Amino acid sequence: MGHCRGVRTFDLIVVGAGIVGAACADAATAAGLRVAIVESGGIGGGATAAAMGHLVALDEDPAELALAQYSQLLWNEFVDSPAAQFRRCGTLWVARDARECDAIGPKIARLRSAGIAAEALDAVALHRLEPALAPGVAGGVRVPSDAVVYPPSVARLLVERACGRGAQLYAGRRVCGLEAGEVLLDDCTRLLGPALIATGCALPELVPRLPMRARKGHLVITERYADFIHHQIVELGYADSAHGAQDASVAFNVQPRETGQILIGSSREFESRSAQVSMTMVERMLARAFDFLPGLRPMLALRIWTGFRPTSIDGKPYIGPIPDRKDLWVAAGHEGLGVTTALGSARLLVDHLLGRRCAIDPTPYLPARALEQIAA
Ligand SMILES: Cc1cc2nc3c(=O)[nH]c(=O)nc-3n(C[C@H](O)[C@H](O)[C@H](O)COP(=O)(O)OP(=O)(O)OC[C@H]3O[C@@H](n4cnc5c(N)ncnc54)[C@H](O)[C@@H]3O)c2cc1C
Repeated sequence: MGHCRGVRTFDLIVVGAGIVGAACADAATAAGLRVAIVESGGIGGGATAAAMGHLVALDEDPAELALAQYSQLLWNEFVDSPAAQFRRCGTLWVARDARECDAIGPKIARLRSAGIAAEALDAVALHRLEPALAPGVAGGVRVPSDAVVYPPSVARLLVERACGRGAQLYAGRRVCGLEAGEVLLDDCTRLLGPALIATGCALPELVPRLPMRARKGHLVITERYADFIHHQIVELGYADSAHGAQDASVAFNVQPRETGQILIGSSREFESRSAQVSMTMVERMLARAFDFLPGLRPMLALRIWTGFRPTSIDGKPYIGPIPDRKDLWVAAGHEGLGVTTALGSARLLVDHLLGRRCAIDPTPYLPARALEQIAA
């Protein structure tokens, strides 16, 4: 045991500096709070570093859509930030056949009802925008407001901004205990004040009451092939993979990087706890991608990696207080949408903390729902 390194008091101690914790630290310091940030690994080095960085309005669940849309407005602040590498490439949602085209109308209606512009495209219009799409791709939806960013760089930017406003960064330090109004670090430093646990998949280590599963994903990045595609292109059936409960699934989801590289996703698996690449999953994922973009087949893949999406009891994030604990807050469990929704999550959290009115209904994200579900 090391000796006690001292005691300091803060208005908020943010544990975890992935994109969610970083955004919370940024929003809290912007509101004038005295903030500490504790990160055991690299800033943005967890799920955040593994992500595609697609800022996407997913519309299957109204609460998820509200948070994504709120966050997208907040992302406008980063449009000209070189560090964020923000690019508004838009999303093309594509249907493989006439049956999948049935999903186009309802999708556009859901997006428009949330105030998000979306247009239907027939096969001709689609191939004019993206000539590399397979001839059989039958139609789709264009969402021009969607964008991409480089997530780990955004996390660093947000932490730097928070530190510029006086936040104290405890880097390379792990939180190993929470006591009433107190956070204990692995070097025996004690920080006094309310804690915000933003540790993603590691949430149960500090808050065992809240269920969290790690949902593995694979991504492949190619050599540079400039102008091959221009939008993030995703299959319309993506939501079945994202929201489905099946253990292992793949969906076509491809992004043009600014370098000309193509980032190819994505897979979802609950049961695998190993970060090792599974060539079986990669082959399934690529076969799916070749169906939509046959020109990918001869391309050279440079790197394959995996990451784990923090998945809550119902796929929606936990944002808010732990019931019966005045000193414990949570922002975690954003599954495959945490980059998109980090900024909105942070605002909701800080509004709660300060007793301010939230811009959107915070109820669907309250951690209390999970505890009620477990008790029922
Ligand atoms: C393959 C893949 C693709 C994805 N693509 C997208 C996408 O295109 N768009 C999108 O919106 N989302 C995407 N996501 C989801 C997104 O990456 C996550 O939802 C988001 O990064 C979660 O951020 P976080 O800050 O909660 O977690 P993390 O980034 O995992 O951060 C948690 C941090 O807490 C730290 N930590 C843990 N325990 C402790 C402790 N005891 N003490 C101190 N620090 C601790 C960790 O070191 C880590 O840095 C993707 C995810 C994956 C895996």
